[in-house]
Amino acid sequence: MDTYHSLKLLQLELKQEKYSLTSVVKYYLNQIKVQKHLNVFLDVYETEALAKAEELQKKLKAGKPLGKLFGLVIGIKDVLVQENYKVRAASKILEGFESQFTGTAVQRLLDEDAIIIGSQNCDEFAMGSSNENSAFGPTLNAADNSKVAGGSSGASAVAVQAGLCMASLGTDTGGSVRQPAAFCGVVGLKPTYSRISRYGLIAFASSFDCIGILSKNIEDNALILEVIAGHDEFDSTVSSEKVPAYAENLQLDKKLKIAFVKETLESEALQPEIKEATLSKLEWLKSQGHQVEEVTFLYLDYLLPTYYILTTAEASSNLSRFDGVRYGYRASEVQDVESMYKLSRTQGFGEEVKRRIMLGTFVLSADYFDDYYTKAQKVRRIIRDETSAVFAEYNFIIMPTTPTTAFSLGTKRDNPAEMYLEDVFTVQANVVGSPAISIPNGKDKQNLPIGLQIMADSFKERELYAFADYLMKS
Ligand code: GLN
Repeated sequence: MDTYHSLKLLQLELKQEKYSLTSVVKYYLNQIKVQKHLNVFLDVYETEALAKAEELQKKLKAGKPLGKLFGLVIGIKDVLVQENYKVRAASKILEGFESQFTGTAVQRLLDEDAIIIGSQNCDEFAMGSSNENSAFGPTLNAADNSKVAGGSSGASAVAVQAGLCMASLGTDTGGSVRQPAAFCGVVGLKPTYSRISRYGLIAFASSFDCIGILSKNIEDNALILEVIAGHDEFDSTVSSEKVPAYAENLQLDKKLKIAFVKETLESEALQPEIKEATLSKLEWLKSQGHQVEEVTFLYLDYLLPTYYILTTAEASSNLSRFDGVRYGYRASEVQDVESMYKLSRTQGFGEEVKRRIMLGTFVLSADYFDDYYTKAQKVRRIIRDETSAVFAEYNFIIMPTTPTTAFSLGTKRDNPAEMYLEDVFTVQANVVGSPAISIPNGKDKQNLPIGLQIMADSFKERELYAFADYLMKS
């Protein structure tokens, strides 16, 4: 099996019997072993993946109808559940836990003949920007092993970057699909909030959480979204908006009006090469006859505080269910019920998760609720309105995905505030609920990938994919 290009091509070659699906799966299983030092997979489903490959190969031979994702070898972030499989959210607190059911997105992959090859490392409960907050150790960036993978879906991005599988499902609450995608030079989509059912996703911040897709190219990404998006009777928060055939409509059919946010490019924290790469894309778009204009967004400084106040509040509530009573880790040396709760949570959660639970509990406390939580909700509304005003005039907003390329392991771990700044460009899409994608946009002097982010108005994934595809092929 050669290097992977696209699912369409793979399916064609499988039909032409150039190789068998079993040999494809074996290839990936071997790659996972060879590149084990990257620390990508927490569990590899070797037996099941091979069995499914055999089964699908027979289906192909028998001339039976094949699923849309036939042959897709995909990995899933360790926050998505599958019946009788372990899931840990990269935390010690879920030690020994196995899910009793399969989540909707994962089930839909399986129903369309994808092969799930394993569960992928991440930051604990998806809280982090470097994959260093995992109870199972950090994932390494394949471009340079001394650099972080990004987070929290870091391993899901490295898996695609290093060719350990064809695509991954991650999650994006504040940038966790797009930021690692940028650090690893792959495509990462965060869809519109509510586009994909979250049944079977371990919750972090429920009014922000989205399942997202990491892939090598736009076409695969679009095809996967087409399969997993849409109404689901198990999730009352999912939208029933019709799901278009995203992958069949990738042509850009008009000249566009594109906005870029002046403040993002003037930011002092922005690495000069990222600024240059972004500006040169904008120039190229102008040269192609698109209208590219600068807009100001006065609320840039309010994005991170709004995000961190609301997500910690929601996380402190969501994570209260991990108490050592019903499942997962339970401390052994306890005297009574209260010390059992306290010790289990103290020992089971990592430092960053505890920090967020405490912050969230504080902003929700009676004395401070109005000052923080209520205020942040109001600011969220203003940011939404301001963003909508831009989308009333422009098709897309372009900005860098991240202020820097992948940083060295260990450099930001002890400084949470600096780590939070990593999300400065990605959280807007989560605060307002709109879709956004990160695509590769060259490399910096250290040869590390740079990401370009495109944001669109809600439910405009089709247009977003078409534009991203156009840019990637430019
Ligand atoms: N880095 C952000 C955070 O730590 C985003 C996390 C995410 O999107 N899951 O909150």
